[in-house]
Amino acid sequence: MGLDFNCALCGGTVGNKIPFRYLFKERFLWGVRCSKCKLTVILPQPSVDEITEMYASDYFTVADKQTHHGDTDYISATANVDFTEAVKSFKQHSDGGNFLEIGCATGGLLVALRNNGFNVTGVEISSFAAEKGIKDHGLNIINKSFTKDLVGKELPENHFDIVYMGDVLEHFTNPVEELRNINRILKKGGCVIAEVPSTLNLISSRIAFLIYRLTGKQKTMTIPPYHLTEFFPDTLKKTFKGTGYETVNIKQNVKHPSTIPLRHSWAENVAKLILQYPNYYITKYFGILGDRMTAVARK
Ligand SMILES: [Zn+2]
Repeated sequence: MGLDFNCALCGGTVGNKIPFRYLFKERFLWGVRCSKCKLTVILPQPSVDEITEMYASDYFTVADKQTHHGDTDYISATANVDFTEAVKSFKQHSDGGNFLEIGCATGGLLVALRNNGFNVTGVEISSFAAEKGIKDHGLNIINKSFTKDLVGKELPENHFDIVYMGDVLEHFTNPVEELRNINRILKKGGCVIAEVPSTLNLISSRIAFLIYRLTGKQKTMTIPPYHLTEFFPDTLKKTFKGTGYETVNIKQNVKHPSTIPLRHSWAENVAKLILQYPNYYITKYFGILGDRMTAVARK
């Protein structure tokens, strides 16, 4: 059934509920898909205060897969990361120059890039993470959420060669507007590189959602609503095209079956694992049905 909404990407005014919702602070936040462009968002969104609270210090220091992102806390998971390959891949897009990471956390990647000739800046919403990066590494980290208020001030226009976001775009309250703002701070010919999850693109998710639709049920998640937009490869491409980028290249990837998170019922976990094997090889050889995407969009 259609419901009133206003699509940030195409201006469409009809949205359809998908069989997915968060139960957050005793209310339901539903997945809603635009009937025109298929962009999928969470409605209603959590408030600004709730979002700030979600990214307080324990987002980075607590390991709890029921309420947080990962099985390992962020600080220990990133303590000894080797960024050699990451640096190499960024150098393919720009050999040095001005680099901005939005959602830089404690700045491990920025340190590696600085050591390789990049002039680095970070933006980080968590004061815990930003302060740690500034204190431990002397980095230039702006402890604010990324909005248009930074453009032309802390972040000059037509300035950056690369803007990088690893698993950040889906956390924005309005990724369409933020991609337009990022476009303004990029140099002509500069690029934004974004890694984005696409969990609903998996074979197992497609089957599960078909079953939910047929049975009139839905998936209810009780973790905080960190992801406010769910991108598929085609909607991600449309989002970049609709926000002023000249070229967009999207590469799909998938997690190996041995590394996928199993946080559901026993039956769901078994089905998910069995389906992840064919999915892994299909994505590897045909570049489709992936649960991870890397987008490179050039201004
Ligand atoms: Zn739309």
